[in-house]
Amino acid sequence: MALDPLPQLQTIFGFPAFRGVQEQVVTRVLAGERTLAVMPTGAGKSLCYQLPSAMLEGTCVVVSPLIALMHDQLRAATAIGLRAATLTSVDENKAETRGRYLDGGLDLLYVAPERASTADFRDLLERGRPALFAIDEAHCVSEWGHDFRPDYRLLRPLLDAFPEVPRLALTATADAHTRADILEQLGIPHEGMIVAGFDRPNIRYAIRPKDNSTRQIADVVRDTPGPGIVYVQTRAATEKMAAQLTAITGRPVRAYHAGLDPAVRARNQADFVASEDMVMCATVAFGMGIDKPDVRFVAHAGLPKSIEAYYQETGRAGRDGDPAVAHLFWGAEDFARARQRIGEVEQHRQPGERQRLAALGALVETAGCRRAILLRHFGEHPPERCGNCDNCLSPPAALDATETARKY
Ligand code: ADP
Ligand code: MG
Repeated sequence: MALDPLPQLQTIFGFPAFRGVQEQVVTRVLAGERTLAVMPTGAGKSLCYQLPSAMLEGTCVVVSPLIALMHDQLRAATAIGLRAATLTSVDENKAETRGRYLDGGLDLLYVAPERASTADFRDLLERGRPALFAIDEAHCVSEWGHDFRPDYRLLRPLLDAFPEVPRLALTATADAHTRADILEQLGIPHEGMIVAGFDRPNIRYAIRPKDNSTRQIADVVRDTPGPGIVYVQTRAATEKMAAQLTAITGRPVRAYHAGLDPAVRARNQADFVASEDMVMCATVAFGMGIDKPDVRFVAHAGLPKSIEAYYQETGRAGRDGDPAVAHLFWGAEDFARARQRIGEVEQHRQPGERQRLAALGALVETAGCRRAILLRHFGEHPPERCGNCDNCLSPPAALDATETARKY
């Protein structure tokens, strides 16, 4: 019997229609096929397993790398009436959760990879009914990815112990190399890969060398109304930048980093989400799992870690589809620091780091279309010019090629 997911989409989620490739992904999952979904941040990846979890007999096991993210997801899933639980080191009701799973009382069970790969967990699954494996942030399985997690490598034996259970890998951030590696590592056939369009046409990209990044960012903050995020490199810099921007621009500015007192951090985040004009100075710890559609600008005060990270961080702007700007101010010293980091990383045999830096170099130094470089990086074939980045809007003078060669 064919399952039609559309009525369920409407009754459970209250959405009138699927977005982009969601329907394709959900249809494959319901047909029991192994799938890799590559979809940008905000495209609605969670729905691709949440919806099947409500339709399939049994439990969807979701592997997710961060406990905080799992708890956000748990709250969201429970709010729409799905029967969900997390099984993590900080949960006190683990026995109850196991019982609910064994009784067939769970649509969704969220676990971290280090737990999912244990014999205990496999044993638990065998005594109940797993309906689907969803591997979120699947790029973590690849050394080519920007966030390799060795624990993800240990998932394969678990998946292979349940060959009949469909598997769905999801990621926002995978270049061609990483995608091929995810397929290989998780045993998904090549035709099982579904890639959504990555373009965010309402985001204008603007990238400039820094001279005085505080002043440059203050100009952005002053000139761009609406909520904004300023990404800086260190925890200390978030607080310093917030104080300076408050003094210079007079706008409401807060700081956010993982080392803040949890109550302060939670309040700053909640205030930002509720505000229509607040600016958040943050480390890259900020933004994951935050659903704020009306962010009007994201400004990077320094080089992001990779093109994937840049895409993900800038992608937090303009989710409502209205115009938004992504500013990046970079300096040669950012490349020097990154090269130093690579030196350390390479001793741990992480391939791809050097290519990642070269790709970033190409993005920041191009005289051509920024969007074209981004989209080509994600395997698309964009037009030569987008008409909505700094270089398309005001073409720069020719670059000095020797200058480029010297930097990395
Ligand atoms: P991702 O994990 O891909 O970054 P999420 O799963 O967090 O994205 O979804 C992003 C937002 O899009 C959520 O607020 C979600 O409710 C919303 N969303 C997902 N699918 C749809 C849809 N078909 N129609 C409308 N909104 C949707
Ligand atoms: Mg997600």
